[in-house]
Amino acid sequence: MDDRQFRNAMGKFATGVTVIATETDGQVHGMTANAFMSVSLDPKLIVISVKEDAKMLDRIKESNHFSVNVLSCEQQEESMIFAGQKQPEEEFQFDYLEGVPVVRNALVQLSCEVYNEHVEGDHTLFVGRVTEMELKDGDPLIFNCGKYRELKEMESVSN
Ligand code: FAD
Ligand code: NAD
Repeated sequence: MDDRQFRNAMGKFATGVTVIATETDGQVHGMTANAFMSVSLDPKLIVISVKEDAKMLDRIKESNHFSVNVLSCEQQEESMIFAGQKQPEEEFQFDYLEGVPVVRNALVQLSCEVYNEHVEGDHTLFVGRVTEMELKDGDPLIFNCGKYRELKEMESVSN
């Protein structure tokens, strides 16, 4: 089984898109991630998966805190910026929730502290305890088969 075939298979699983953000030494670092899920209600836990060569890995270890920001369908640009696919035109401004940087206008902003971490293959799973959150109305950005999509587009396919 080659890597491309595996990625093609995993890409069939449609997901939302998040930006993970953290701050170390006054510097905010963001990274686009779709490996995210809800884990537990009591306590409120979520998990993200960060690859071993991502700069984000050491930053989260150092700060012990991170945010998960669920992007809206109007935030494909933010996804591309924090995946290294596009340069921001001006300095990116983050908001703060419980002292953790969050992405403005995201559908969901979760402020988390690291609850546990597990090295699994070439990724580290960070289990985060959610300490605060903000929600907004709107449609999510979707990632499927290596492409960005919107719910509207998917509804029109089924009608
Ligand atoms: P870098 O590559 O240096 O940073 C990422 C980009 O964000 C750079 O262009 C950087 O300039 C920019 N950036 C960071 N902070 C700021 C700031 N404060 N202001 C402005 N720009 C800033 N990888 C995973 O490990 N797990 C996943 O679940 C995952 N899911 C992904 C889902 C999608 C849809 C995509 C497109 C990519 C995904 N990736 C995932 C890949 C990951 O987003 C990239 O490999 C990313 O470049 C890794 O970031 P890094 O921490 O190594 O830092
Ligand atoms: P793609 O075809 O690489 O992604 C499709 C799916 O494959 C993703 O949704 C994810 O489930 C899986 N995947 C891709 N790269 C992976 C990795 N290194 N480790 C584990 N699972 C992975 O889509 P694309 O448009 O070519 O992606 C853009 C870039 O973002 C690529 O460099 C890709 O590797 C990276 N990416 C990384 C992850 C991750 O590390 N978990 C997830 C998504 C995308």
